[in-house]
Amino acid sequence: MSKTLKKIGVMTSGGDSPGMNAAIRAVVRTCAYHEIECYGIYRGYEGVMEGDFVKMDARSVKGIINKGGTVLKSARSKAFRTKEGRQLAYEKLTEAGIDGLVVIGGDGSFTGAMVFNSEFDFPVMGIPGTIDNDIVGTTHTLGYDTALNTVVEAIDKIRDTASSHNRLFFVEVMGRDVGHIALNVGVGAGAEEILIPEEDLGLDRLIDSLKRSKASGKSSSIVVVAEGDKIGKNVFELKDYVEENMTEYEVRVSVLGHMQRGGSPSCFDRVLASRMGVKAVESLLEGKSNYMVGLKDDIIQITPFDQAVKGKSKINKELLRVSDIMTV
Ligand code: ATP
Repeated sequence: MSKTLKKIGVMTSGGDSPGMNAAIRAVVRTCAYHEIECYGIYRGYEGVMEGDFVKMDARSVKGIINKGGTVLKSARSKAFRTKEGRQLAYEKLTEAGIDGLVVIGGDGSFTGAMVFNSEFDFPVMGIPGTIDNDIVGTTHTLGYDTALNTVVEAIDKIRDTASSHNRLFFVEVMGRDVGHIALNVGVGAGAEEILIPEEDLGLDRLIDSLKRSKASGKSSSIVVVAEGDKIGKNVFELKDYVEENMTEYEVRVSVLGHMQRGGSPSCFDRVLASRMGVKAVESLLEGKSNYMVGLKDDIIQITPFDQAVKGKSKINKELLRVSDIMTV
């Protein structure tokens, strides 16, 4: 390991996700292991531009591996999108002697890091933290596994009340551009239908399918709807449409919202965060820059930022087929 870097900064940016604290801990402790200084940066790029830094050591990250959210706080920054903002960020980092940056966030945060690197040749490395799992270059982003477990637990509870009252429930879950959460929790919680942005099944097919379920003896049903589903109606309009066309059902809507982003990270996310944190710091120390760390075939690998931010990760076709078969 070349160890030319002396001080690494770590920040969380964009939407928070469970596992971010475990990743901060891993970055700080890997720096301590390699005997280089580590600075926490508050509120993402806003904190970089303000020089809002705090020196962290191995002990300062005790007791956070199991905590949701991020102890460094997160933010979205308009000013960092401007050349002046990034110039200021560069000045604050160099003033503090910080010579490498680990950015924990989503594709927007990585785009910002990439632009910053191209302008100032500043070493940057990314750790994907978002519950949506929409990033190319990793099979799992931090927080995704925790969110799946949170949502499955919520749907199990909704099913209890749905089956007690012969109700049909539409449960809206996060996923504006990709349906990973919806598809996985739909299969995991035994939903009757799963509506995702990648597929437009159409309203007729939805009604046919629900009628088939009803005729086969089902007295209650759960339909999981991703926020960004392409059927052309929001979840409340879907409810109205189904009520008009299936008067035998009482339909209810449950929008799970931000509770999906909270909570103590699962063991999987804690382990993933620890592995990613080590890889991010050690890659910087090896002189690498402009990459995102990710999990592929259970190996932690790095993907250039420009590939990671290009497009969205693809839905698992085999799982789609499994879901079709399970809802027969
Ligand atoms: P999430 O997945 O939760 O949306 P994200 O990292 O994609 O997380 P964004 O709000 O898209 O969240 O990006 C976070 C921050 O990154 C922005 O507020 C902005 O400061 C910075 N950023 C994004 N795109 C650019 C860009 N093209 N140039 C400079 N900075 C950018």
